[in-house]
Amino acid sequence: MSTETENKKKDLIRGGQFLVKETKAEDVFTPEDFTEEQQMMKDSVKEFVDREIWPKKEEFEKKNYKLTEDLMRQAGEMGFLGVSVPEEYEGLGMGFVTTMLVVDYISGATGSFSTAFGAHTGIGTLPITLYGTEEQKKKYVPKLATGEWFGSYALTEPGAGSDANSGKTKAVLSEDGKYYSITGQKMWISNAGFCNLMIVFARIEDDKNITGFIVEYDPENGISLGEEEKKLGIHSSSTRQVFFNETKVPVENMLAGRGDGFKIAMNALNVGRIKLAGACLDAQRRTITEGVKYANERVQFKTPIAQFGAIKSKLAEMATSAYAGESACYRAAKDIESRIEIRKEEGGSHQEAELKGVEEFAIECSILKVAVSEDIQNCTDEGIQILGGMGFSADAPMESAWRDARIARIYEGTNEINRMLSVGMLIKKAMKGHVDLLGPATKVADELTGIPSFDTPDYSALFAEEKEMIAKLKKVFLMVAGSAVQKFGPQLEDHQQLLLASADILIEIYMAESAILRAEKNAKRFGEESQQEQIAMAKLYLYHAVDLVNQKAKEGIVSFAEGDEQRMMLMGLKRFTKYNNQPNVVKLRNLIADKVIEENKYPF
Ligand SMILES: Cc1cc2nc3c(=O)[nH]c(=O)nc-3n(C[C@H](O)[C@H](O)[C@H](O)COP(=O)(O)OP(=O)(O)OC[C@H]3O[C@@H](n4cnc5c(N)ncnc54)[C@H](O)[C@@H]3O)c2cc1C
Repeated sequence: MSTETENKKKDLIRGGQFLVKETKAEDVFTPEDFTEEQQMMKDSVKEFVDREIWPKKEEFEKKNYKLTEDLMRQAGEMGFLGVSVPEEYEGLGMGFVTTMLVVDYISGATGSFSTAFGAHTGIGTLPITLYGTEEQKKKYVPKLATGEWFGSYALTEPGAGSDANSGKTKAVLSEDGKYYSITGQKMWISNAGFCNLMIVFARIEDDKNITGFIVEYDPENGISLGEEEKKLGIHSSSTRQVFFNETKVPVENMLAGRGDGFKIAMNALNVGRIKLAGACLDAQRRTITEGVKYANERVQFKTPIAQFGAIKSKLAEMATSAYAGESACYRAAKDIESRIEIRKEEGGSHQEAELKGVEEFAIECSILKVAVSEDIQNCTDEGIQILGGMGFSADAPMESAWRDARIARIYEGTNEINRMLSVGMLIKKAMKGHVDLLGPATKVADELTGIPSFDTPDYSALFAEEKEMIAKLKKVFLMVAGSAVQKFGPQLEDHQQLLLASADILIEIYMAESAILRAEKNAKRFGEESQQEQIAMAKLYLYHAVDLVNQKAKEGIVSFAEGDEQRMMLMGLKRFTKYNNQPNVVKLRNLIADKVIEENKYPF
């Protein structure tokens, strides 16, 4: 490794380290940092969606699976399906940030297309690009990258959902050792109705872990499909059961090694999770834009409803969570991209580099999946409310957006599973010595018993108090999670409600910090005056984060600490969640809402 690479590596943040290492505004990537090439890609994706997908929104509600398939083929012709695929396999070979921005802007019009796109480019294609042999990649990836073929991912079974490694589908080696015979039932398989290839997970003999296979769809080879599932939303996304009855799969179609399937499934899901978060962003922007357009036109009590404080509050909150989501998604995407680049500079193959780069930030991927999938739900819900009765009508765009949003909390690992994973992975990283939590946690414990400083802090610099507050929220996490680890050790995983509360604290810290760092970076380069609304959004997000952290930490503390220990921790919590200067929330909201109203769209 060259000294230059070594130095770069030292400066790079590790996954989960945001909690204990201060990140500077100039070190985060923001949507305002898009290169010219990325901006062009964004424009061309938006143009495609506005021309081909958004006008057909109603048609997507009519279970028109063919429409989704046709548009996926068009997306393939435009190169959008192969953005992250290396050029040697007929992809565009672009970086992780560009991959994120494509999934972001292509997904805003309807969850049906978004799901088909995500299932194909993510979990349908990635297992081959990440784990395939050269022959497998040459044979299948170009077809998938160009949209000649479509992919799906068959992991879930009727008896194996969150417990994905418990599947009963069997793979039996033939006597001549040439093929495996796969038998079993898969459920909820996106793109099943029009795919040419499936990534199928099955168990060989009594192996502890499942194995992945590339299976070409051929009804003559023992593969049959159930009817299309009747679903709450994503009506034109094909979701079916898939039955395998002694389906013959050549041995050379095994992915990675025997028993590696669970690892493949989990790593594909890491990428899937951050991309799913990205896929929820443009839907929020569009919901806000539709909401404010209506609110500016709709007159009640002789006043456009956008002028009412009640509506302003909604617009401001919706814009704020979209802003925080964007900030956090692109921050993490760039961190992943930088890690991948370093791995490549160290001599790693594209495959290894991408795998390890994403795996490093698996904690952030889970955080983002949970946060942004819940934001889109709230955003579409408030979108309906702004439109009143019209919002409830299927003729308005909010109704389907609200139904479509609901799935994001369930697939790619439910939000409960992802919450618990985020904290569990962080603790594991600390145990392995990859992130030093023990040192900072001990310092917090000392601080709790020490005498607090009574100095008057200098808050004159932009975000000085907010950044101090973020540092204090990190102490809350270390205090609560640190004590819980000490108390319960490995049995902590049995204390799910405590893990969930800790995850909420972790999520709020990452999201609030990302919004602040983006607004600070923009204020520094474009001038504070021009960034008033962005600054207000960062402050508003933090205000809510502090409240939520307070509530969740209290829940944790009273559940496991008693007597003096409890009193001491509650006092610490009070100190760590105390503003010296409370922000004027109504003023912040009005400032943000006025900008949204004036521009008649999500303007950031
Ligand atoms: C529209 C749609 C498309 C999908 N597409 C695909 C696809 O393309 N490929 C594929 O393989 N799968 C797909 N899935 C399946 C999806 O990934 C699963 O539904 C999901 O992982 C949850 O599994 P489950 O439905 O069996 O729920 P369960 O695992 O039974 O969970 C039910 C509830 O229990 C909770 N729970 C479960 N285990 C625990 C635990 N240990 N601790 C605490 N709480 C727990 C869950 O959080 C959830 O709230 C899709 C599902 C849908 C609905």
